[in-house]
Amino acid sequence: MVELMNATSLTREGATQTAQNEVVLNAAYINGDWIEIEAPATDSDNTDFDHTNNHALYDPNSGEVIATTRLCTNNHVETAVKAASEAYDSWSQIDVSERARYLNAIAASMEQQFDKLVGLSVLNNGKPIEEAKIDVGDAIACYRYYANLISDQDTWSEVSTLESGLRLLKTYAPVGICALITPWNFPMVTTAWKLAPALAAGCTVLLKPSEVTLLPELMLGNILSKIGLPKGVVNILPGAAEVGAAMTSHPHIDKVSFTGSNVVGEKVMSQAATSVKDISLELGGKSAIVVCADADIDHACDLIIGGIFTNAGQICSATSRLIVHQSIAEPLFATLKAKTESLQIGDGFDADTQMGPLVSVQQLNQVKNYFDIATIEQLTCLTGGEVIDAAGYFVSPTIYTEVPTTSQLWMEEVFGPVLVSTTFTDNAEAIRLANDSKFALAATIVSADEAAALEMALQIQAGHIWINEQQIVLPEAGWGGFKQSGIGRELGSDGLSAYQKSKHVLLTD
Ligand code: NAD
Repeated sequence: MVELMNATSLTREGATQTAQNEVVLNAAYINGDWIEIEAPATDSDNTDFDHTNNHALYDPNSGEVIATTRLCTNNHVETAVKAASEAYDSWSQIDVSERARYLNAIAASMEQQFDKLVGLSVLNNGKPIEEAKIDVGDAIACYRYYANLISDQDTWSEVSTLESGLRLLKTYAPVGICALITPWNFPMVTTAWKLAPALAAGCTVLLKPSEVTLLPELMLGNILSKIGLPKGVVNILPGAAEVGAAMTSHPHIDKVSFTGSNVVGEKVMSQAATSVKDISLELGGKSAIVVCADADIDHACDLIIGGIFTNAGQICSATSRLIVHQSIAEPLFATLKAKTESLQIGDGFDADTQMGPLVSVQQLNQVKNYFDIATIEQLTCLTGGEVIDAAGYFVSPTIYTEVPTTSQLWMEEVFGPVLVSTTFTDNAEAIRLANDSKFALAATIVSADEAAALEMALQIQAGHIWINEQQIVLPEAGWGGFKQSGIGRELGSDGLSAYQKSKHVLLTD
């Protein structure tokens, strides 16, 4: 358990002070230094990558600007690629124990800065404090996990073969220079899931965090600087789509690991195609929660609420489609409505808050658009369906019942606190409904019969399934989906393999 280090950082005033005094704005972290991002000359050539370059960071609770910063241009990408290339030979060849030492140092330093990172996350993302603690805590666990994993690995392993007189050996080499691109919903953890295995494998990286939640991500630059990570191993580029495009199409980048929306994921895939880069994509979801006839209704409702209203539904694995057995639908929806309507909506810094605002006005408009579609489709609204009249980006937690599978809300990722539901009468129908999606990231099954639930888990298309459990993601478990939820796996040993290439050596026995 991570101890609280500094209670004042967990207030809006404290987090604002951290943002003002400790986050380096108008700068990119390149080659171990903060490089100032200059304001563009007013008469500069208007290239694709030149823009007004004043970028505001908002407090989603109030809609007010917390800070203004500048974003990188493609020149910074060139400088960062050069730095990562120069650092590569040394970093990829140092002993794994050294790389493990740096990973543990990142974890320890994050732990020291725990409250500041949590505070910045609440301030910039709007999530409640307890959820921000999970984001930062899981990130710390991830750096430690990969430090341990590589410490336990031998350089060579013997591959058993049927041939006599020959020996086959296997080793792993780092994939090269990586472009890591992350979204805003869990800034620390989505970064750690990429950065920790990339560093563990011996890769050097360009990291482009989401331009929406730069405050906690830029603090990471301070941490890397403080622990003395060799220059150029990690380069952090605050930037938007243009910088992401420049990174993912750069001829000297060997691997792209992207987490974000499908719309952008498709672009990233084609940008990376030109120089045949290795690619990992963690994309969207429309995951199912199946509640069987024998489920404990109260526990099921807690899992449903956790699965869709955590982080105001802005989770890739949000179980946003509820599939409930017909026989328990009536009491379940009564309990679910009551529990949902008693959720405390408000400021993430308020200890009582259970659901905060959406991250941005764009996200607010996206969710509002789905409320309008639900009205046009005449969906039955059990609760919610409204934008909350407040300064910040708040919507009410929303549940629609008897939603047809042809509805846009059944098929598309809303990325907000919006649950659609339907009923089933036998397990085969539940499985068919759960698999009725172009996405296949995660799922939850609630049942008193563990054997039946495990049987169902075999047939549901998803990369991660919880049975009677909340959405805990252990560092040991691979993370990623089937179908259009992405390509590849993060976390676990698969997450390390994503940054390695195997190499075989054959010799006489
Ligand atoms: P987004 O796709 O809008 O942006 C993601 C990142 O891509 C940002 O850093 C953005 O600046 C960058 N980007 C934008 N255009 C680019 C381009 N042309 N080339 C390269 N990079 C570009 O996503 P978002 O709104 O930040 O995040 C929400 C989405 O992320 C949801 O769809 C969610 O399901 C998904 N997500 C998936 C997972 C997972 O593990 N599968 C985890 C978290 C979020």
